[in-house]
Amino acid sequence: MGAATETFYNVIRRQGITRRSFLKFCGLTAVSLGLGPLAASHIANALETKPRLPVIWMHGLECTCCSESFIRSAHPLVKDAVLSMISLDYDDTIMAAAGHQAEAILEETRVKYKGQYVLAVEGNPPLNEDGMFCIDGGKPFVEKLRSMADDCMAIIAWGTCASWGCVQAAKPNPTGATPIDKVITNKPIIKVPGCPPIAEVMTGVVTFITTFGKLPELDRQGRPKMFYSQRIHDKCYRRPHFDAGQFVEEWDDEGARKGYCLYKMGCKGPTTYNACSTVRWNGGISFPIQSGHGCFACPEDGFWDRGSAYDHLTTIKQFGIEKTADQIGMAAAGAVGLSVAAHAVVTAAKRLTRKGDGAAQDNHRG
Ligand code: SF4
Ligand code: SF4
Repeated sequence: MGAATETFYNVIRRQGITRRSFLKFCGLTAVSLGLGPLAASHIANALETKPRLPVIWMHGLECTCCSESFIRSAHPLVKDAVLSMISLDYDDTIMAAAGHQAEAILEETRVKYKGQYVLAVEGNPPLNEDGMFCIDGGKPFVEKLRSMADDCMAIIAWGTCASWGCVQAAKPNPTGATPIDKVITNKPIIKVPGCPPIAEVMTGVVTFITTFGKLPELDRQGRPKMFYSQRIHDKCYRRPHFDAGQFVEEWDDEGARKGYCLYKMGCKGPTTYNACSTVRWNGGISFPIQSGHGCFACPEDGFWDRGSAYDHLTTIKQFGIEKTADQIGMAAAGAVGLSVAAHAVVTAAKRLTRKGDGAAQDNHRG
């Protein structure tokens, strides 16, 4: 990787990416960040003139799906953006160096960019047995994490593993897998949960820091508001079916063929905060609900201990809309063929759902 004094623009131009593609990327990123039209030129200017962000990327207990997410991105520029946008001096998964050479690079980067680098962490440290369940460079990962966190500017906790613990922290959690913010308490931490996070969300977070020289605004759980302030359910294209009480009841029923709402098949979209239904996946082509499967709440704390992904949401305590939605479904079924009655059901459904949504959001935000 080149020096951190190089700009993102220099790097991508050298890679043969056209200025037109670069400007398109800036425009799309401005939109995904929820910024106004002028922001695209602001982003372009920053990426053309500011040195790339020095980043150290470490891996604890995890499956590397966060790295895979952006490496495999179908978007022509997002595919390379994270790697080109940051001066990735150390990443123990994709760097060419290994062993003592890799550890020397880590130390060198820490000294050279003291107080300036971002520590990107994929996965989490297991704390049981003195951290022996994840050894990295001959030492428990937790030691490496603490030591690199000491001199960083901020930490990005990539994915649900780093943010909340994820499946490796599932009960009874024999390794003591622990989220980053429970181990590092004296540095700003941006949580970018998801299993994995969406490539454009990852790029958007890094672009924001590079462009504005500060961290994005975070919600009470530490997630960037621009990507995690809405539920999947709020912008889901199947939402009109939810409002009309039209649900898939069996995987191969008529409702499934017609693209009805997956709520009764266990969809957790009503309680899940992520950008899947707006940014979507694979360059905006689709997302899980569009391919026929309900959301299983991958970016939410504790999803792994809440039973099957196919359990109906009524099993989640304090969730305010399930009774309403079930009642709507029954009412809609009884109203088939009666257009006036059906219209009344839809109207009632919208009213009840709005009321229910408010309750669900209040409960979720707690
Ligand atoms: S319950 Fe799921 S499938 Fe139905 S509208 Fe909400 S997010 Fe979409
Ligand atoms: S739809 Fe839900 S489970 Fe699927 S990737 Fe998005 S947030 Fe995760």
